[in-house]
Amino acid sequence: MEKRVYNYGAGPSTLPLEVLEKAQRDLLAYPGCGHSVMEMSHRTKAYMEIHNRAKNAIKRLMNVPDGYEVLLLQGGASGQFSMVPMNLARRGDKVDYANTGYFAKLAIKEAKRWADPEFICTSEDKNFTYIPKITPDMLRPDTKYLHITGNKTIEGTAYHTLPDCGDVPLVADWSSSIMGQQIDVAKHALIYAGAQKNMGIAGLTVVIVKKDAVIDPADPMVPDIMNYNVQIAQDSLHHTPSGWAVYMAALMCEWIEAQGGVAAMEALNRKKSGMVYDVIDKSDLYINDIPKEDRSLVNVTAKLPSQELTDRFAKEAEAEGMINVKGHRSVGGLRISLYNGAPLENAEKIADFMQRFEKNL
Ligand SMILES: *Cc1c(COP(=O)(O)O)cnc(C)c1O
Repeated sequence: MEKRVYNYGAGPSTLPLEVLEKAQRDLLAYPGCGHSVMEMSHRTKAYMEIHNRAKNAIKRLMNVPDGYEVLLLQGGASGQFSMVPMNLARRGDKVDYANTGYFAKLAIKEAKRWADPEFICTSEDKNFTYIPKITPDMLRPDTKYLHITGNKTIEGTAYHTLPDCGDVPLVADWSSSIMGQQIDVAKHALIYAGAQKNMGIAGLTVVIVKKDAVIDPADPMVPDIMNYNVQIAQDSLHHTPSGWAVYMAALMCEWIEAQGGVAAMEALNRKKSGMVYDVIDKSDLYINDIPKEDRSLVNVTAKLPSQELTDRFAKEAEAEGMINVKGHRSVGGLRISLYNGAPLENAEKIADFMQRFEKNL
């Protein structure tokens, strides 16, 4: 086998070797079927078994309460930026958003096409380096929901307690820390996440939705493929699913369960990111201004004093087999992503490298 590198990419991200090896074993023929999941009709008993394995594992891992549906969709978290307003609000309705950076801005941009969204708080004054507090009185009285981005993949911040939004339904984009941090589903009307960061590969988008939060029937302008009622009624099989991505999510979820579930993932992610934050906090070189209580457990960001040093860091890291350490193009700096699929060794490697890099300057 070609030597594998340490991949700190923010998504798609590194997968556990055991999961990849299992997929490799079943690649040519899914057990008992004689053909690959990629070649399988989604109207078969074998596929339904895979579909339900993924769906039920998500329900178990996240303690999804009665009254909620787990949808396995396509279109990414970006698709949900549109589906959420179209299904939880009528045209022109007020919907409130928290501005915590890059993905919040993308989310509100799509909501504008349908509803009347507004940022009710922002952390832009400090370059999105903290989580702005929210109290129920900040919400507009007739808002249909409050939308938050649970973990900020680009800025490296995260909610560790949910905002108090009173009776207003809470909608959260948990793309980058789903199953990597414990989340109380019952406190949300809707959760969505692309699978490619913590629970599988791109091509699958998981939506956990409280059924009675969805407007029924939907506005006639809502396309069927984007209509939660249609997807709920058809068990996410309104059209051809991304079967391989669903299968990978089943493997990844079962792997997470074998590790001890979401609580164990959170503890490990805390330990991994903690190792890197520790290096940053003790260093005179790396800068991270995020208060400890607002730091992401899975995306560690840091700034270096110059672009030249940032480039050199990335180049020298790569020479040692550590790739994708640079921050998002919109913010620069460094970003070390340590999602569920990354073993402790990935954190140890980069923490050691960071210390040596500083010492050798
Ligand atoms: C990655 C990410 C997205 C975009 O996901 P796609 O699946 O590429 O559409 C949206 N929100 C957050 C928080 C993300 O981390």
